[in-house]
Amino acid sequence: MSQPRTSPDVLTMIRELVALPSVSSAKPELDMSNRGVIDRLATWLDGMGFAVEILPLPEQPHKANLIATLGRGPGGLVLSGHTDTVPWDDGLWQHDPFGGVEADGRIYGLGTTDMKSFFALATQAASRFRAADLKEPLILLATADEETSMAGVRALVDAQKPKARYAVIGEPTNMRPIRMHKGIFSTAVELRGRSGHSSNPALGVNALEGMHHVIAALLRWREALQAQHHHPAFEVPVPTMNLGHIHGGDNPNRICGHCHLHVDFRPLPGMHNATLQRQLREQVEEAARDWDPRLGVDVLSLFDGIPPFETPADSEIVRVAEALTGAQAEAVGFGTEGPFLAELGLEAIVLGPGDIDLAHQPNEYLSTAQIKPTLRLLERLIERFCVRP
Ligand SMILES: [Zn+2]
Repeated sequence: MSQPRTSPDVLTMIRELVALPSVSSAKPELDMSNRGVIDRLATWLDGMGFAVEILPLPEQPHKANLIATLGRGPGGLVLSGHTDTVPWDDGLWQHDPFGGVEADGRIYGLGTTDMKSFFALATQAASRFRAADLKEPLILLATADEETSMAGVRALVDAQKPKARYAVIGEPTNMRPIRMHKGIFSTAVELRGRSGHSSNPALGVNALEGMHHVIAALLRWREALQAQHHHPAFEVPVPTMNLGHIHGGDNPNRICGHCHLHVDFRPLPGMHNATLQRQLREQVEEAARDWDPRLGVDVLSLFDGIPPFETPADSEIVRVAEALTGAQAEAVGFGTEGPFLAELGLEAIVLGPGDIDLAHQPNEYLSTAQIKPTLRLLERLIERFCVRP
């Protein structure tokens, strides 16, 4: 291993990244560019001898992904994270959300846990290696828009980049390896009937009553799927479908002319979002048609979703992460970029410092006690997959 080279110390790097706002939000008035964070990482990594590639998102050129590569070869390790944060609640923070204030063994700030600190730690760990040390490449990957549409990692799948053998996604898991999570998608069902005076049902087509039949069909479908699919590693071991929002009609004395329903679906690994979305549509269309063929039906995607994710228990990255952390790889309740990296052919785990329960909250912090163990873990992963593959 070579001497560490010049890059700011790790706490300074965390503070600098936290100071660069990079909120992504579906609300345009809150949404920001992530270029500040991308450009800062590019500067550090370029200075360390990485080949740095900044890839603006095709649909949003003010946002970008970063691929920084040290060494070369067909295998290697990707250390991956997202550069964006969620919005913050003004007034609820005890410290400046962009201040990176250190107090009580913690560093406070928006993105300290989720997940800018990981970039600082990965950069620091990488600074101990030179290209000449590596038999397989080390790649730092920084994405845009993970918290909203996952547009960044979707663009990488389209571009078929980066290519490597293994990936560690440094989302906050308190340094426990995660090898699977459920998928998610959400769908809107719209039924259009015809309103009319309530005194005579023949004057209209009641969309609300139609929705009653659609819901009954969806619940039967859910029951069948839950009887069929079971995965004991998950706290909720079956796929779930939540009916989360419904609205219909306007007045008790009018036949309900319009009704819509929003559902959230969480498939298990082994199930496919596109298949489920098609089946859901068929269930809705059939139930609505059975009830009254005059009903207009639309089934629309609210969120195209994240596929379910599972890296096999016997994958080398899982085994090595388990050995280095002393923890068995588990399932987790939140979605990640893992399934997209899997689509790129990477065997991925989720493993990083920080606590997901502190993410997306006022007073988000990283415990500074996690810095050294994370650095040691990352260095050992780089050694294992890049220096002595
Ligand atoms: Zn995150």
